[in-house]
Amino acid sequence: MSIDGSGNNHLKEFRKRLDNYDATISNLLLELGITKDTIEKKCKRFQNRIVCPIKQGHLIPEASFGRHFKSCTAKYLDVPLQTTQVRRRRKKTKESIKEKKTIEKFS
Ligand SMILES: [Zn+2]
Repeated sequence: MSIDGSGNNHLKEFRKRLDNYDATISNLLLELGITKDTIEKKCKRFQNRIVCPIKQGHLIPEASFGRHFKSCTAKYLDVPLQTTQVRRRRKKTKESIKEKKTIEKFS
């Protein structure tokens, strides 16, 4: 920062510009009938989302990205979906266990 206080003047000028931008944005939002709260809520919906590398229109929550990526790859790049096969196998296994228990009950 300079001794003559010019740095302080730059900060004041910068603050004034920011205030003007803020007022302009507030007026535009008012004209459009949109509140800042509405925008913040919509922004929160898209936080922690990842853009799909296969289809850029897909915004996926971070937590389910792996599953989405596999299914999207299978759908659009025609790559076999291994997780589905695994799930089917597990389901069969659960069903076979159920059948086994049922048989044990009645025997
Ligand atoms: Zn996708």
